[in-house]
Amino acid sequence: MKNTIGLYSVTVMILLAACNNKKASNEVAAAQQKDEVAKKIIASKYDNTIDPRCGMEVTDDMTDTLQYEKYVLGFCSPDCKDYFKKNPKDHIAEAKLKK
Ligand SMILES: [Zn+2]
Repeated sequence: MKNTIGLYSVTVMILLAACNNKKASNEVAAAQQKDEVAKKIIASKYDNTIDPRCGMEVTDDMTDTLQYEKYVLGFCSPDCKDYFKKNPKDHIAEAKLKK
């Protein structure tokens, strides 16, 4: 079993290296943009990383917020906030809290 996993990792690494070599400049730009978004999410003032209704990543510029228990949650719209408010216990896991 261990050998299979090892072989799999090596294969993945080779594939990744091959992909990196072929990367066009626009792909690099897209990857950098993705990094920027990831940094924003980590730096975000909200405790959730995902808007639980629409699944979009939470950044500092979310338009709507909600205090739920000890958490401050960010939402992209009042609709998403209302959806969460109706059933917070069911949706809190989907919000992917940082802590
Ligand atoms: Zn949303």
